[in-house]
Amino acid sequence: MKICETNHCTGCSACYNVCPKKSIKMLENEEGAVVPSIDKQKCINCNLCIKTCPENNKIDFHNPLKVYAAWSLNENVRKNSSSGGIAYEIYRYVIENGGIAFGTKFNDQMELEHTMATTLEQVKEFCGSKYTQSKIGKCYLDVKNCLKENKKVVFIGTPCQINGLKSFLRGEDINNLLIIDLICHGVPPQKYLKDYIRYLAINKKVDDISFRGKNNWYFTAYCQNEIIYKKHNKDDLYYRAFLDGLFYRENCYNCRYAREERVGDITLGDFWGLGKKVKFDYPIENGVSVILVNTEKGKKIIENLNKRIFMEERTIEEAVEGNAQLRQPSKKHENTEKFKRIYMEQGFDIALEKTMKD
Ligand SMILES: Cc1cc2nc3c(=O)[nH]c(=O)nc-3n(C[C@H](O)[C@H](O)[C@H](O)COP(=O)(O)OP(=O)(O)OC[C@H]3O[C@@H](n4cnc5c(N)ncnc54)[C@H](O)[C@@H]3O)c2cc1C
Repeated sequence: MKICETNHCTGCSACYNVCPKKSIKMLENEEGAVVPSIDKQKCINCNLCIKTCPENNKIDFHNPLKVYAAWSLNENVRKNSSSGGIAYEIYRYVIENGGIAFGTKFNDQMELEHTMATTLEQVKEFCGSKYTQSKIGKCYLDVKNCLKENKKVVFIGTPCQINGLKSFLRGEDINNLLIIDLICHGVPPQKYLKDYIRYLAINKKVDDISFRGKNNWYFTAYCQNEIIYKKHNKDDLYYRAFLDGLFYRENCYNCRYAREERVGDITLGDFWGLGKKVKFDYPIENGVSVILVNTEKGKKIIENLNKRIFMEERTIEEAVEGNAQLRQPSKKHENTEKFKRIYMEQGFDIALEKTMKD
């Protein structure tokens, strides 16, 4: 049984979360991407996975109501975040009001996973974009349970994860749920990041990695808070491959969410191109987020942040012009197919070297 077309699967894990018999596992395919695999012995053919899969359903998009250039007024937050630190400020607002936050961090096995946080200390670990696909695990079920307990919840993720959550929660009361999608280039399978860490042959155990934030635009690996590897994106093979679009999941190159209309209550991204045509009067070197406010629920939250963040209203045209991922999916790198072929035949190291080294 096929849940959706193989090349369309985003790995969002809605099927895994919805299966009443726990007969679905998310496993790596031959390209290293995580896809569902059904245990036929356990499956009862209820078809809930097929009905829930976002790829088999129309997407419920919102037209952005307002657009802002914004950043946190707390310089530390801004410095430790990818863009303007707005994600942290939203998390802070929800946590301070007794709510629960969902985001991504690396676990002890260096797997990037979505998880829940109830304190600001925990939320700090979510800050910064991690350029690999995070594992959703049973997070959608956790969100559902929190909502059942009448808790306020905020969930941040890539648009396909946000729509996976929406599909999973169809028919539930989601008044207390705030969903935030990121503008997204595409995500490489986690397998590639794991392979790359091994490839680097660092002689200490890597226990964290950052791409943005404090060491902005550097691939930085840490062991117990000590930097053990640091290279600028232009010199680091993984980072360059990511930015050039070499090795995203196949579905990312046909992403249905790379457009102006959005799936979340709020969309966050980098405000590329800010001030190019219409003057912007403030310095932007320390990071600026673009906020697309897509629903009334999103609008209320952003209004409540006004003492914590700087924001100036801008136009959707400016945001879309500067940010290709608000117009179309990332294009395949000329070596994408070559990378995949060599990866399947000879493994990651040779595939990366033969496609990126020059
Ligand atoms: C894979 C990826 C690709 C991106 N591509 C673009 C792009 O092309 N254009 C653009 O304008 N912006 C892009 N972004 C978004 C941008 O990097 C910032 O995350 C965004 O501007 C919010 O910044 P911030 O300072 O408010 O928060 P940040 O400090 O960046 O925190 C952001 C939130 O992102 C979540 N997050 C981090 N990594 C992942 C991940 N791998 N999967 C799911 N959630 C994650 C964290 O849990 C946290 O909630 C991308 C982000 C990711 C993760």
